[in-house]
Amino acid sequence: MTGERDSERRTLDAAARAALAFLESLPTRPVAPGGSSQQLVAELGGPLLEDGAAPEEVIEQLVRGASPGLVASAGPRYFGFVLGGTLPAALAADWLVSAWDQNASLFVTSPAAAVVEDVVASWLLDLLGLPRDASVGFVTGTQMATFTGLAAARHAVLQRVGWDVEGDGLRGAPPMRVLVGEHAHVTVLAALRMLGLGTRDVVRVAADGQGRMRTTELRRVLEAGTGPTVVCAQAGDVDTGAVDPLADIAGASREAGAWLHIDGAFGLWAAASPRLRGLVEGVELADSWATDAHKWLNVPYDSGVAIVAHSDAHHAAMNATAAYFVQGVDGCRDGFEWTPQASRRARVLPVWAALRSLGRRGVADLVERCCALAGDMAERLRALPGVEVLNRVSLNQILVRFHAPGQDANAVTRAVIAEVQREGVCWVGGTTRDGRVAMRVSICNWRTGQEDVDRSLRSMARALRAVS
Ligand SMILES: *Cc1c(COP(=O)(O)O)cnc(C)c1O
Repeated sequence: MTGERDSERRTLDAAARAALAFLESLPTRPVAPGGSSQQLVAELGGPLLEDGAAPEEVIEQLVRGASPGLVASAGPRYFGFVLGGTLPAALAADWLVSAWDQNASLFVTSPAAAVVEDVVASWLLDLLGLPRDASVGFVTGTQMATFTGLAAARHAVLQRVGWDVEGDGLRGAPPMRVLVGEHAHVTVLAALRMLGLGTRDVVRVAADGQGRMRTTELRRVLEAGTGPTVVCAQAGDVDTGAVDPLADIAGASREAGAWLHIDGAFGLWAAASPRLRGLVEGVELADSWATDAHKWLNVPYDSGVAIVAHSDAHHAAMNATAAYFVQGVDGCRDGFEWTPQASRRARVLPVWAALRSLGRRGVADLVERCCALAGDMAERLRALPGVEVLNRVSLNQILVRFHAPGQDANAVTRAVIAEVQREGVCWVGGTTRDGRVAMRVSICNWRTGQEDVDRSLRSMARALRAVS
């Protein structure tokens, strides 16, 4: 036993040492991974061992083998997609989640996780300015949060016309209309597919140049039909950061008797800043919301939050019972009744730690700082010859297009992105927006500072010169 305990300690020490070494390398290591997939396979692959290796050795091999394939997305100059890093308190809490190995499905399997879910739910509703009696489910990300919100929507709008979707399914059900913005995130469509609603009949409501749903169009579409209806709006377009006109959309949806779901994966966090709250005005009028903690709140993967204004619909859509589940001890809820999963890790604990370590002001500062850095970067990009910023930078996202004399701007932009990635000072991705290739910059990491923006701008300028 002593030998095993020693081995456990040495193994965890090795992991902690490797974790710290990685974190300390973040400011200087190339952001893009250095190795090839063949190299990774060579180190990590091969046949399954007949006899296992010692745990310490396993960790050492993992660290050595995985290193060439690690992306420094936890670092200050990773601007791809919308990822976010990890706050120290959240990371440390996440280690404990694994060490404690709690099953967060039932109160009896982890009173700590159950109570903290209730605590964090009320903190989040307060912080984001959402109805205090909304129900909350802790899921893996926004895709599952949207799935949860839309499952509640499906329950509610069909119930209003006398259809029990949980009992009878969708065979023979009254048709449901689903309206999404022209630039709705693909995960909204994935959620609709998984809910059996399909995507073929989804109505795409036209958007303006920033990607915001046009409310006149929405009203027109709503008025053109009847029956159970769900509207999916967006707070934070993945490319432009633009927020749909939520107050108007909520008004139109309410008049039409439609359920309004908001995909606020990152944009919902503007609500936590007194200065930026105006961007999401009316957000509290929706029926359900989906957001991520692993993006702007900077907790480790995977962590999303489903919020529903009508707890009865939420519960009806997710709830599962079995005789051996002990229900509702001490007035505390069983977390699994609010999510699509049964057994879950206690992923709420890092969310608790992040919120506790930042406080209300710290969350607002984090969001405001990222937006200010994005605004600064956009302004300085605009000042460079050959650089065009395509979006109004109201949040943390920048869309950039590059031009060189006599060359096709799509090709130039692609080449600049590739050169920036190759140089490794920062990492940016690309997209095609309304037929134009663009570089995407997303600033949502607590580590990112002015110096990182300065260095990244120099890298982008160098890349454009190299390509021109
Ligand atoms: C990231 C994102 C999603 C998907 O979130 P996951 O956490 O990856 O499931 C959905 N919508 C928007 C707007 C996003 O930015």
